[in-house]
Amino acid sequence: MTRALNVSHRSLEQLVFDNRFTRELPADAQTTNTRRQVEKACYSRVQPTPVQAPELVAYSKEAAALLDLQPKDVARPAFSQIFSGNTLLPGMDSHAMCYGGHQFGNWAGQLGDGRAINLGEVVNQQGEHWMLQLKGAGPTPYSRGADGLAVLRSSLREFLCSEAMYHLGVPTTRALSLILSGESVMRDMFYDGHPALEPGAVVCRLAPSFLRFGNFEILAARGDLTTLKQLVEVTINHHFPQFAPATPEHILAWFEHVCRLTAQLMVEWLRVGFVHGVMNTDNMSILGLTIDYGPYGWLEDYDPTWTPNTTDAMGRRYCFGRQAQIAHWNLARLADAIHPLIAQSAPLEEILRSYPHLFTQSWQEMMANKLGLQVFIPATDQRLVEDLLALLPQIETDMTHFFRKLAEVPLVVDRDQDRLAPLMDAFYQPKQLDENIREKFSQWLARYANRLCEQPEAGRGRKERMNLVNPKFVLRNYLAQLAIDKVGEGDFSLVNKLLEVLRHPYEEQPDMEEFARKRPEWARYRPGCSMLSCSS
Ligand code: AMP
Ligand code: MG
Repeated sequence: MTRALNVSHRSLEQLVFDNRFTRELPADAQTTNTRRQVEKACYSRVQPTPVQAPELVAYSKEAAALLDLQPKDVARPAFSQIFSGNTLLPGMDSHAMCYGGHQFGNWAGQLGDGRAINLGEVVNQQGEHWMLQLKGAGPTPYSRGADGLAVLRSSLREFLCSEAMYHLGVPTTRALSLILSGESVMRDMFYDGHPALEPGAVVCRLAPSFLRFGNFEILAARGDLTTLKQLVEVTINHHFPQFAPATPEHILAWFEHVCRLTAQLMVEWLRVGFVHGVMNTDNMSILGLTIDYGPYGWLEDYDPTWTPNTTDAMGRRYCFGRQAQIAHWNLARLADAIHPLIAQSAPLEEILRSYPHLFTQSWQEMMANKLGLQVFIPATDQRLVEDLLALLPQIETDMTHFFRKLAEVPLVVDRDQDRLAPLMDAFYQPKQLDENIREKFSQWLARYANRLCEQPEAGRGRKERMNLVNPKFVLRNYLAQLAIDKVGEGDFSLVNKLLEVLRHPYEEQPDMEEFARKRPEWARYRPGCSMLSCSS
């Protein structure tokens, strides 16, 4: 055979598309982007709107490798033209998906890709399908009253966080590129009557699929069971082949699997301190991926009631500590949607009832890993963990620092208080650390040390194991904002540096200590650093 020996590389023009989603599911008959209700269809064909002067700010080499692209391909002007939506490649079949969703607990009807346009599914040399999606590439039939565009600040945040999450080992959609459009976009950042022009940008995202719970919900809400059945079949065939063919029994098993994936995702968010911020059912991936990085945030001081989303500041529906519970609620909406295909409620209800167990099991395992325990022994460790999580919010304690430094706490000390030394840097306000609090932390650390000493291997290898699950580097909210400010000044170095640091979140990177520092005081109340709105 004379097949290319260089199997690891394809040029932009050699990308191979196999558009299963558009080929196998019904399309909207119209192809204009006038805003409308789209019925009996899973998507609408639509073209990206060209942009004036695309300029590449950053790209992920790991994401490019998923498409078999190399740095030399990215360096070509054609790259920015394609991934800003100015040029479509042969084989692409651009479209926007139709979905609905429950927003903040209420059914919102049709939403859909209002500013996301799928370009098509690339098949890489491993045979994997990767859907390419441009976010901010112009209006679609689903744009409702909005412009279909995205601004730099939200695009940079999505780009960096997608890749940071990937390197943390958290399931996520991926981001290939961040491109400035060369155009300005009007936004009222805090919805307070102060609109201003901001730089526009386009992010190219990658995922095996961008299907959300809401894609199923909209069809069920409209009573379109034919299309619903087709969508479930296509989803199972391509993304969960172990459950094919999609008989009612298999659909149930698939649903249970989706519950498991979702529970595991929640555990991963809790592990790294991530708050999604808008867990509406249209932002829940059917593949159990983190999807739609909007007003997300990272816990700085450990506060389970914290949400970065100013729109949710009153209700705190989507705060850190409620995410697992909200995922359960969202899964119940998915169950409602697929119910007509199963025609029985009892088995769906039973699966939903098992969710807390699924979640708790993997949460316990995760917490054991975070503490360096070989196994989680419920009889003793439940209390140990609960007491720690109740103690942390009593004073401002940086979550990332605390768990990272916990690995350095000595087991054997002269006085219990000595165990606190490695943790001192985790506390934001040393003056809060009075005798009473010191005593509480010391007592907890003494129990922790005892528990570790009871393990057959005591503390051996603890630090190495803990450092694999407790990251040193996360995309702290203020770091993303600093990178946004710099790109606004035409300086792309910080975003690229952060991208590089976040490729190795669990490693010590002595030259990069500044990016591991806890939030500086100036960032405490600065918009973009601790408070974000849905405006993007
Ligand atoms: P999100 O809050 O980003 O998950 O978006 C919720 C819905 O609003 C989705 O249907 C989006 O496509 C739509 N949307 C958000 N921003 C825009 C925009 N600038 N133009 C059009 N649609 C938008
Ligand atoms: Mg969304």
